[in-house]
Amino acid sequence: GSAKRGTPRWRRYEESMHARMLQRMQLRADLGQAITDDAFVLHFQPIVDLATGHTRGLEALVRWQHPARGLVPPLEFIEIAEESGLIVPLGDWVLRHAVDAAAKFRAAVPEQAPYMSVNVSVRQFRSAGFVSRVFAELARAGLPAELLTIEITESLLLGDDEQIHAGLQTLRAAGVKVSIDDFGTGYSSLSYLHRVDVDTLKLDKSFVDTIATSPQQYDLVRGIIQLAATLQLDVVAEGIETDQHRELLIDGGCAYGQGYLFARPLPEDAVLGYMAGSEHSDTQVTPAA
Ligand code: C2E
Ligand code: MG
Ligand code: MG
Ligand code: MG
Repeated sequence: GSAKRGTPRWRRYEESMHARMLQRMQLRADLGQAITDDAFVLHFQPIVDLATGHTRGLEALVRWQHPARGLVPPLEFIEIAEESGLIVPLGDWVLRHAVDAAAKFRAAVPEQAPYMSVNVSVRQFRSAGFVSRVFAELARAGLPAELLTIEITESLLLGDDEQIHAGLQTLRAAGVKVSIDDFGTGYSSLSYLHRVDVDTLKLDKSFVDTIATSPQQYDLVRGIIQLAATLQLDVVAEGIETDQHRELLIDGGCAYGQGYLFARPLPEDAVLGYMAGSEHSDTQVTPAA
């Protein structure tokens, strides 16, 4: 047979693997420098009361201001930061800046001070002194513990780890709220919920995506919301993109939500303007006659 022209498929595959590996190594090297250089920025996505549209909280979402690549989204570097351990200093940076921003927003709108919700990775939570650092940041910024929520993943809870439970209990005893992020994407085991130390479930976007098209999924979501209510947990639905999502969730008993329908993650200087606008949005939810 005649030899085909060009690079064989296996070699192209190998080259792209190689390129990806190099890119990851480069990102990892850059990331260490970025922490030294303070090259991150937080955006804040409103968490709203679904019935009124009023902003109740803000989720701090980190972005990397990369000198060559521009604003890099967290999905491209959080995992690398986890693997290399850089998540600990990066997470501390996020915590400090999120708490500072929360204190500023509170000073600007004391009557409607939004809570600040901060993503904390497993490795960061497990790092020595994490709980003390949380308290130190709150004290430094003068932020009441009740205005801080930490978002953790199901995987942190599943191990039944004594140290983790003790940490969660200490935080909650002081008033810090704890939220399970991306709920339902992990083991989806509802049975462990009654014995975990949390305040809120964040129902993953993948559930919200399907409720408009699948009655079975909608039933499942309503079941989760009811179970959460029984356990006295709040539910925040993630990734609400349409009015239909919002209506189905309200009918299903869900009180809070987050998603592009309300707002994308906003730069810090756009938050108060958004909040002021959403305070006057009650008419959008007038029930149909
Ligand atoms: P997450 O905590 O589940 O955050 C929600 C993500 O969904 C955000 O992406 C947000 O922009 C996006 N999102 C919100 N509403 C919608 C919607 O209606 N439609 C769609 N398509 N997307 C929506 P982002 O900012 O890229 O963050 C991605 C993930 O990166 C976060 O998922 C979180 O797991 C992680 N992350 C972000 N910041 C931090 C951080 O400071 N520390 C840690 N450990 N992880 C972080
Ligand atoms: Mg989150
Ligand atoms: Mg989430
Ligand atoms: Mg999610």
